[in-house]
Amino acid sequence: DAVLDAGFFTSWIVEAARLVRAEKDRLTRLDTAIGDGDHGTNLDRGLSAAAAALAERRPAVPGAVLALAGSTLIRKVGGASGPLYGTALREAGRTLGESPEVSPAELARALRAAVDGVRSLGSAAEGDKTMVDALAPAAGALARAVQEGLDLPAALEAAASAAGAGARATVPLEARKGRASYLGPRSAGHEDPGAASSALLLRALHTVATR
Ligand code: ADP
Ligand code: MG
Ligand code: MG
Repeated sequence: DAVLDAGFFTSWIVEAARLVRAEKDRLTRLDTAIGDGDHGTNLDRGLSAAAAALAERRPAVPGAVLALAGSTLIRKVGGASGPLYGTALREAGRTLGESPEVSPAELARALRAAVDGVRSLGSAAEGDKTMVDALAPAAGALARAVQEGLDLPAALEAAASAAGAGARATVPLEARKGRASYLGPRSAGHEDPGAASSALLLRALHTVATR
């Protein structure tokens, strides 16, 4: 069975930073429609700083990789998404503790802890048109796939697809949390930028698992 080490999680952050940079303009367009137009630059800045911090400090265990990435996002991203993603990563890291290697089942538990962290900090429920709408279905899909005995690439494919579908399903919704909620009914008709970036983070996780 697959075991995931600090190198795997570091590669994930590097791939996430690459993908977010490639999709930065789309994230910014989405946030221009229903927010303040900074989500692409916020996340690009935060993730590239996280990748740089990991390259410099080289944490030895997965939990420490996620903790450092999370703290860096909180420090470098002024917007709502910095503390939310930062908390998600730190909560996931805390779940993994000091183990040098993580199983797919432990990864599924860590993703669940990440979602719970976002939910308790942002008090958003599914359907509020936030990143939770992508992260929660991804956590559910990963837990089910691991439970059913799928291998890691297949399980992460299920998680990434669920996140993408969850993000697309935010289009018709009216935002009830974050800046977009100020628009009320006018927030409907656009994908939530944070849900879109969460789908990218899950896609990046699948990509590194297939290498
Ligand atoms: P800001 O809105 O401060 O400019 P960003 O543009 O970087 O920050 O991030 C916006 C995204 O953050 C939203 O699209 C949404 O997904 C997410 N978000 C905002 N508030 C909340 C919340 N209370 N709970 C969960 N997610 C939230
Ligand atoms: Mg914004
Ligand atoms: Mg902002």
